[in-house]
Amino acid sequence: MLPNNDNSCGWINELPKRTGIKELLGRANCDWLIIGAGYTGLSAARQLGNVYPNKKIIIVDAQVAGEGASSRNSGYLVDSTMNDGFISSKSTKDYKAKSDLYSLGIEKVKKFIAQYQVDCDWNECGKYYASSKIEDEKKLIKFNAMLNSLKIENKILQKDEMLNKLGTEFYKIGIYTNGGILLNPGKLARAMVDSLPENVILYENSPLLNWEEANKRIKCTFNKGVLEASSIIFCANGFLSSLGIEKQYSFPLALTASMTRSLTETEFETIGSPREWGVLSTRPMGATVRMTKDRRILIRNTVSLCNKRVNIDINKCIHLKGILKRFPSLPKDIIDSTWSGIVCRSGNAAPIFKKISDNIYATGCFNGSGIGLGTLFGEEIANKASNNITNEVELIQKAKKPNWLPPQPFLNLGIKARFLIDKNYAKSEL
Ligand SMILES: Cc1cc2nc3c(=O)[nH]c(=O)nc-3n(C[C@H](O)[C@H](O)[C@H](O)COP(=O)(O)OP(=O)(O)OC[C@H]3O[C@@H](n4cnc5c(N)ncnc54)[C@H](O)[C@@H]3O)c2cc1C
Repeated sequence: MLPNNDNSCGWINELPKRTGIKELLGRANCDWLIIGAGYTGLSAARQLGNVYPNKKIIIVDAQVAGEGASSRNSGYLVDSTMNDGFISSKSTKDYKAKSDLYSLGIEKVKKFIAQYQVDCDWNECGKYYASSKIEDEKKLIKFNAMLNSLKIENKILQKDEMLNKLGTEFYKIGIYTNGGILLNPGKLARAMVDSLPENVILYENSPLLNWEEANKRIKCTFNKGVLEASSIIFCANGFLSSLGIEKQYSFPLALTASMTRSLTETEFETIGSPREWGVLSTRPMGATVRMTKDRRILIRNTVSLCNKRVNIDINKCIHLKGILKRFPSLPKDIIDSTWSGIVCRSGNAAPIFKKISDNIYATGCFNGSGIGLGTLFGEEIANKASNNITNEVELIQKAKKPNWLPPQPFLNLGIKARFLIDKNYAKSEL
């Protein structure tokens, strides 16, 4: 499976078009090779470039760098999550381990934007977990107790407070946590591409087709060239399994999102002129909805298997329905862009961080939390591969590992069954 992205992502289309894109042509050698130029691969390349100014470091992407999931997400840099399996495991210890990693991820992104003076519409406005069903109060009270026990500041909000903050009567109950950040994911990914160290060579539109290890070197065949590397780091996220990496431990899923044009002054006033906000659903597969700094509404409430091309038109209709349910005063032609992106999942929501052999490493599989975790794990896999075992590497290595997944066709059958259950449960929250 290779990336095959639509050209309709609202975050990407508002950026200046990249120029000077180099494809990999012919044969070359390098000391370090990184496959995949999203947050993870770019962070690994940045770290290696800084640690080894005299080594030849190459990073290659199948498409335009940074324009995979890293530019196509909803832009929540999270301090906590509710529906990635941790709440269902009911283990405070697991949740704390995960939330410690989230905090480190936030610190890494913060450090990056401070060091390179990045403007990515950073807003430390926190986020809401919300539901249109009052019966979800029980679930939120439990979550509130978990967050309190971990000293993560949060507050339960009732219908009127939600209306006041978000400008919609849709939500009946919610929790606000103030530790999360909203940002423009496209601007962040582009800044990571633009700030690669000078000794890092970037090749784009150059998919890796296959690779083999021979005589302690790794030979990689791309569509128009061949690279031989002393060491390699795989950061291809949803495409890891198709490259034969940790095949039985992760799988890709396609998510689709839409963004409206900016609301007019009147439209914005009608909904009470709320400040920028982000909502995550209390139910798995419920909608992620966000009001951006420039008054656009982003919605993501669809997910599918990657075994066929995503139907953007059908997804756009589902997104529009979700927007109008929350903001009935808005017109039906308000959606400006709809796009899909590939995320990587494991059965127990644990990420991959792995030394595969002496000179082969891989990391990825961050589900919906890759802004912070990708930046953190990318930098730290570069440290691990350089034998620099930092405190962060130790913490990551203590975290849960992905569990084994059944082979196809059983895996897809299992995922479809889970979709049916979760989609039915989340019906009211789409
Ligand atoms: C709609 C949507 C909403 C999301 N919302 C959020 C959110 O709000 N917050 C959050 O933290 N995360 C969110 N995510 C997830 C987040 O985008 C990912 O976790 C993150 O981008 C992972 O970064 P990465 O660098 O590991 O992977 P990617 O960004 O997927 O980068 C991997 C790169 O590998 C390249 N590649 C793949 N195969 C090959 C090959 N054969 N040869 C060469 N290169 C290859 C791809 O082209 C791609 O550029 C969302 C994702 C989507 C799609």
